[in-house]
Amino acid sequence: MITRMSTLFLRTLREDPADAEVPSHKLLVRAGYVRRIAPGIYSWLPLGLRVLRKIEEVVREEMNAIGAQEIHFPALLPKEPYDATNRWTEYGPNLFRLKDRKGGDYLLGPTHEELFALTVKGEYSSYKDYPVMLYQIQTKYRDEERPRAGILRGREFVMKDSYSFDLDDEGLANSYQLHRDAYIRIFDRVGLRYVIVAATSGAMGGSASEEFLAESETGEDTFVRSTESGFAANVEAVVTPAPPAEPVEGKAAAEVHHTPNTPTIETLVDYLNANTDRKFTAADTLKNVLVKTRQPGSSDWQLLAVGVPGDREVDMKRLEASLEPAEVALLEEADFAASPFLVKGYIGPKALQDNGVRYLVDPRVVTGTAWVTGADKTDHHVVDLLCGRDFTPDGTIEAAEVREGDPSPDGRGTLVAARGIEIGHIFQLGRKYADAFSLDALGQDGKPKRITMGSYGVGVSRLVAAIAEQSHDEVGLVWPREVAPADVHVVIAGKDESIRERGEAIAAELDAAGVQVILDDRTVSPGVKFADSELIGVPTVLVVGKGLTRGVVEVRDRRSGDRAEVEADNAVQHLI
Ligand code: ATP
Ligand code: MG
Ligand code: MG
Ligand code: MG
Repeated sequence: MITRMSTLFLRTLREDPADAEVPSHKLLVRAGYVRRIAPGIYSWLPLGLRVLRKIEEVVREEMNAIGAQEIHFPALLPKEPYDATNRWTEYGPNLFRLKDRKGGDYLLGPTHEELFALTVKGEYSSYKDYPVMLYQIQTKYRDEERPRAGILRGREFVMKDSYSFDLDDEGLANSYQLHRDAYIRIFDRVGLRYVIVAATSGAMGGSASEEFLAESETGEDTFVRSTESGFAANVEAVVTPAPPAEPVEGKAAAEVHHTPNTPTIETLVDYLNANTDRKFTAADTLKNVLVKTRQPGSSDWQLLAVGVPGDREVDMKRLEASLEPAEVALLEEADFAASPFLVKGYIGPKALQDNGVRYLVDPRVVTGTAWVTGADKTDHHVVDLLCGRDFTPDGTIEAAEVREGDPSPDGRGTLVAARGIEIGHIFQLGRKYADAFSLDALGQDGKPKRITMGSYGVGVSRLVAAIAEQSHDEVGLVWPREVAPADVHVVIAGKDESIRERGEAIAAELDAAGVQVILDDRTVSPGVKFADSELIGVPTVLVVGKGLTRGVVEVRDRRSGDRAEVEADNAVQHLI
């Protein structure tokens, strides 16, 4: 089917939208791909929807290729499964919660681990059923504190989320590797430059979780990479002028301060009220507390960090005594200094919000956000301190900031800092969700065996923006062929009937040959048509114009700008 500009539901804009700061946002709006409905909420117009669907298709093909099966969940979900894992509370203000007419609690799904675990539990019961990998491409909802950059950080967005279910750790490692390889193929196919970095800021540490970051100056993640080896790490060390609040005494050479504005008092109070038999109110201020928790029956301790400003110190012993010992324990601040891996880290507001508050302890990592006043008296906002690299086990922070020019930890090359957009994230979750729902398979020996899970996400709608960030110039978008809204943009540049007829004929032939065509058959000037074609960013522009008198048409490469005349009679052959 030929897409005709004369009837396409499209209005391009000459001016950047007032609220747009990054190129992808400006261009996707100007080129008529998306329109803003509310903060972080966008509609997809025909051209945008095409790009989105093409990316979805790439993702779908690669997921199917590793044997994952597509299913589809509702976005509107009951509270109960999320209560069972505490995420109803822990997700904090990022969760869209709503009530139905009977007063029942519902949410709009921010991610679906609970539902997938429950569904597998409902269908499968024997070891013979496993392993299994399931996925969906679905709309997710997160009430992001700062929706940003158009569709880059939406409050409604499209994610591919998949989940693996295995009988043992080896199986999980295999499912994880399959996903990792599939993600590499996906991001290669959509034409992105990206790095894979160990993600230590989430619920897991080390190689059990990795992020895929599309290289982009406008990204919110900072990583370092070696100039010579493939080493890359998501080590964020952003110098920030904001003043630290409430210095915390410590043995470390550097002073570490609380992150201000911790938004979790209600979350914590809810959590403590749900998990202890003591009743807390927001006035019962807790200060500098890490709450250590574990699911019933699980051996995994998890840390809940709380940095709530307040004027009253909580009596830790009293608090601890009032908690169910097997379920929740509190680590007091003094323990931080004694413990090599908790020395100076606080899990900060962003990490709390992003990751739903719970953390596994990786002894090598302080998963957290801290304000560090360095020897140079400047403040650094540091995420993911690594023991041994950033501080010694006795608690001294040596180099909280990774600077460009530092030697790469693998001894090859020097580090350079760069910024990236998180486009994918793979996790070995382990048994957290299986524990919450007693997801077991009856083993060969007749005994139940607890399933171990992985979860894997691709930001499908974010990819549209990430690709646009990497692939544009000052006049418009430049799509990689695999995801472009069409293959060839045919511009009829002239009023003569012969030009129009030839343009129509070439477009029809291309279409018949399976080439996706946008045909600019409008009665506007060639200048307007060229400007629009550049803005829209189809990889090849074919100009049918005055050259026809010499029997030629012009083929323009949108990316390089190269122009070549080809014989009109050979144009279709040239392009297929
Ligand atoms: P971020 O750090 O950017 O907030 P996240 O770590 O919270 O992302 P995950 O829970 O890992 O996100 O979700 C999987 C993927 O979904 C992410 O890698 C990202 O590509 C995408 N994603 C997450 N939040 C958004 C959003 N608000 N808008 C668009 N895509 C998103
Ligand atoms: Mg997030
Ligand atoms: Mg993230
Ligand atoms: Mg993530």
